[in-house]
Amino acid sequence: MKVAVLGAGVVGSATAYMLAKDGHDVTVIDRCDRPGMETSFANGGLMNPSDASPWNSPGTLKRLGKMLFYSNSPLKINPSAIPSMMGWGLRFLANSTYERHRSNMISNIRLASLSLDTLRKIRETDKLNYDETTRGTMRVFPRGGRMSEFVQMCREMQEWGIQFEVLDQAQILEKEPCLAPVIDRYVGAVLFPNDESGDAHKFTNEMARLATELGAEFLTNTSVLGITKASSTYISHVVTSNGDIRADAFVLSLGSYSPIFAGPLGIKLPIIPVKGYSVTVELNGWRGGPTRPVMDDKYHAMMVPMGDRLRMGGRAEFAGYNTRVDAKEGRRVLNDILKILPALASHVNPDSALNWSGLRPMTPGGPPLVGPTPYTNLFLNTGHGPLGWTMACGSAKLIADFITYGRVLNNRVDPTNYAL
Ligand SMILES: Cc1cc2nc3c(=O)[nH]c(=O)nc-3n(C[C@H](O)[C@H](O)[C@H](O)COP(=O)(O)OP(=O)(O)OC[C@H]3O[C@@H](n4cnc5c(N)ncnc54)[C@H](O)[C@@H]3O)c2cc1C
Repeated sequence: MKVAVLGAGVVGSATAYMLAKDGHDVTVIDRCDRPGMETSFANGGLMNPSDASPWNSPGTLKRLGKMLFYSNSPLKINPSAIPSMMGWGLRFLANSTYERHRSNMISNIRLASLSLDTLRKIRETDKLNYDETTRGTMRVFPRGGRMSEFVQMCREMQEWGIQFEVLDQAQILEKEPCLAPVIDRYVGAVLFPNDESGDAHKFTNEMARLATELGAEFLTNTSVLGITKASSTYISHVVTSNGDIRADAFVLSLGSYSPIFAGPLGIKLPIIPVKGYSVTVELNGWRGGPTRPVMDDKYHAMMVPMGDRLRMGGRAEFAGYNTRVDAKEGRRVLNDILKILPALASHVNPDSALNWSGLRPMTPGGPPLVGPTPYTNLFLNTGHGPLGWTMACGSAKLIADFITYGRVLNNRVDPTNYAL
């Protein structure tokens, strides 16, 4: 079957690989000059099913109120973005009940775990280079924080296969000696031994390489201008800056831009862009940093080793489709990390750091939209929010299975449930 995948981010590229592996004739369309140049470019790099809890846990409204008035808040809402996010915001809050949050968290865990299993299977057969670490991730909790509440949530996640260990100060230092200068700030940590990390951009290009080796074609520098329907249930072609592309099936994986192309077809996708920042510094051989990703629960900041680099990330900003890199925000990310890893200051030059921002394609519930649409040959694989790298291989496998084995083709998308 000829399948066109719209978007070559981590989600679209993994989808192309899975489809090519199933024997399809795959064409991927992307406006950039190579795969993974937008949100999948310099994200946090965590491949962490342990982070499956959606952002809107019970009590969200109260926490949001507090965060918005805190001067160094990791969350910002740009007033100009408010009108376009009203409906989405109400649905976000509606998903913050205990029951809905729990059900969304379980969906995320299942998809993220499938993703990790799928990634490990790919690694068994294909050598991939993406600066990965497989030593788990660690979340550290400052005094007066929410460690006991978090550990309670970990117990709930454990029922769904998420393993964790609670660490005291001595155990933290045994695992991550770099935290010695600030250890008195922390009451403890939670280690997730099964989590992994890596460079999502490199991984995206590895997926594209494998897909290409299997015959897939990547049409880069090619913008999707519209999706044309032949009838109320069938897509005929995609209009691009390089001509029309016809196919038997189409997969929409344009990240935050997916709703713009689904809307004219009558499909209202509940996805909005949520901006985030990362800063990447070269370590030039310095080995004094963490050996696995470490997240500070107070600053909502993370530091992730990636080969000879350290990636730091965090912050969430509702600013519409604005991707301008704000150096001040990058500086804040770096400053938050210097509070955890002061020794970094004398080993990096902030002026040569890579400051980056990207748009998380967020759904109001948390789980992405993976599945069929009212058009029998149009499929969604989008809306992965803060977990797109974590879920990419799993949702790619689901959609490829769906297209290959053709299950329930007339089913409609249920935006709250990725299960097909
Ligand atoms: C600061 C930050 C940190 C993050 N950290 C993590 C993390 O640690 N772990 C994790 O799992 N996730 C993380 N995420 C989320 C993750 O990066 C995203 O969920 C993921 O990259 C989304 O992938 P995607 O393929 O759906 O979208 P994208 O990577 O944005 O891909 C969409 C593609 O569509 C293309 N495109 C768009 N419009 C058009 C058009 N009109 N025509 C042609 N092509 C088009 C773009 O060029 C792009 O390549 C983070 C995000 C941010 C912002």
